[in-house]
Amino acid sequence: MLDNLGASLKDAVKKLAGKTVIDRAAVDELVRDLQRALLSADVNVKLVMQLSQAIKQRALDEEPPKGMGAREHVLRIVYQELVHLMGTPGAVTLGPQTILMAGLQGSGKTTTTAKLARFFQRKGLRVGVICADTFRPGAYDQLKTLCDRISVPCYGDPKEPDALTIVREGLPRYRKLYEVIIIDTQGRHALEEHLIEEIININEMSHADHRWLVIDAALGQQASEQARRFHEAIGIDGVLITKMDGTAKGGGALSAVAETQSGIVFIGSGETIEDLERFEPDGFISRLLGMGDLKALVERAEEAISVEDVDVNAMLKGKFTLRDMYKQLEAVNKMGPLKQIMSMLPLGGMEIPDDVYDVTSTKMARYKVIMDSMTSPELDDPGIIGSSRIHRIARGAGAAPEDVRELIKYYKTMQRALKGMRGMGGGKFNMQRMMKKFGRTQ
Ligand code: GDP
Ligand code: MG
Repeated sequence: MLDNLGASLKDAVKKLAGKTVIDRAAVDELVRDLQRALLSADVNVKLVMQLSQAIKQRALDEEPPKGMGAREHVLRIVYQELVHLMGTPGAVTLGPQTILMAGLQGSGKTTTTAKLARFFQRKGLRVGVICADTFRPGAYDQLKTLCDRISVPCYGDPKEPDALTIVREGLPRYRKLYEVIIIDTQGRHALEEHLIEEIININEMSHADHRWLVIDAALGQQASEQARRFHEAIGIDGVLITKMDGTAKGGGALSAVAETQSGIVFIGSGETIEDLERFEPDGFISRLLGMGDLKALVERAEEAISVEDVDVNAMLKGKFTLRDMYKQLEAVNKMGPLKQIMSMLPLGGMEIPDDVYDVTSTKMARYKVIMDSMTSPELDDPGIIGSSRIHRIARGAGAAPEDVRELIKYYKTMQRALKGMRGMGGGKFNMQRMMKKFGRTQ
């Protein structure tokens, strides 16, 4: 997601970090690099200029906090100003509520409705979805198929031509049964009068608690125009930006929407039901700058894992045995796609081979059998497992020696990754230490 912007921001920051003196020329150069990066992500020129001004002024006028060098001081300002550019995120409550989805056709409403259903379901809420799209052929089937996959009920009637009738009949029924109700609506290619009228009517009848607008990131800075027009019609109180994975203009869409005062609530970054993230400017920017997002990871972990299951802090500290690894793999498996989790970790640019992500439940079962034929000291310290032990373990588990080697290799990669997260020291500056120093929020 936003790979180009991320890469050029990281480059700009790295360049500054490599400078021997941080003077006006160095700040100017940094600001020019940032401008180039933001403009090519389609961020509005006016916003880019404001940000540039703010960075220059603060970098030269403000005294660095005690104990912070000039370099870290400037980076901290860059971080804060980029976070500021992303605006204040919209509020998401975890309780009973009705959410009305709005947006043009093809923006990703139906997909996002299902993703949201999954999000609230993960939070332990009972979720029901209503299909009020009577325009697009197959709209009900599309939503129903997505909902079936996550066992969320979907109300609708493909034969009913009137969206209002569907909502009038479905909503009272679902309100008795479910805590969170999400209403998916139709969208045409442009903002037609009829479409606006219908959504106004559905909004009035449903007394929805939230009216969320779905916007395609590929719109770039034009996203603000759409946000404004929907806001005028029904009062949008949250924006979801979709398809952040497929465009270089995502930065433009994000900053443009942020400027309209409609807070961004979520971003969508893929076609599967799990590809939805709460929008948090600080985590988002630190990830773009390559600082990783431990906060998002820990939140996710807390959601999926009960306390006795695994100590996330221990995992992040990197002290772990084979036994821990197995327990943690089980836990991580529960958290969602491993690759997504790993992308939130500050691995300091370390490459992780793709097969590491491929921990299927079959593989987990095989690992378990292999581990069962290991001795206690071997489980505590896999470092002692040499070639003869590998053969013994393989025989005991009815597995091939390669399988045992694979498990150990896997363990070592994980261990290295965890060490990478902990350490990251040794370089010219240490992003994580820096993050700690100035706190994640302003
Ligand atoms: P609607 O007309 O607003 O209901 O839009 P749909 O939900 O039917 O989505 C239109 C297309 O966009 C579908 O092919 C989706 O799979 C795709 N889509 C939706 N959200 C995302 C996203 O975050 N990333 C990507 N890559 N595709 C998405
Ligand atoms: Mg749809």
